[in-house]
Amino acid sequence: MASIFTKIINKEIPCYKVAETENCLAFLDINPNAEGHTLCIPKKEIDNIFDLDTELYNELMLFSKKVAKALKKAVPCERIAMSVIGLEVPHAHIHLIPINEMKDVTFVNKKKFSETEFKEIAEKIKASF
Ligand code: AMP
Repeated sequence: MASIFTKIINKEIPCYKVAETENCLAFLDINPNAEGHTLCIPKKEIDNIFDLDTELYNELMLFSKKVAKALKKAVPCERIAMSVIGLEVPHAHIHLIPINEMKDVTFVNKKKFSETEFKEIAEKIKASF
């Protein structure tokens, strides 16, 4: 069965898109740790990020770097944290999380945003990409 992220790529379910290239996609995490929490994924469905071939792994890393730079411009924060978890969705992804302190990367304190707010932040990041 296709992963939920493959369904997003295929436009079967919506997302708040931030950036896209031929092989990668970035969109807002629907249950974010912070405003602007973004997921960067390869379009090819592979569960474990460390199973990507080197070329695609490097491409995803470079894509994530560009998205992180845009995110830093769009969201006031101390740093953009990068994290790989993968316990919930079996489709490789990199979390990019605007942080001000260590607790912002704990995946415990979640933030709520309205659809309008999600759209606004996605547009802001997109404009900086
Ligand atoms: P993990 O696989 O543990 O790295 O966590 C998966 C992440 O994907 C979680 O932070 C979820 O909030 C996020 N997520 C799950 N479904 C969606 C979706 N449809 N759109 C955006 N983010 C999602």
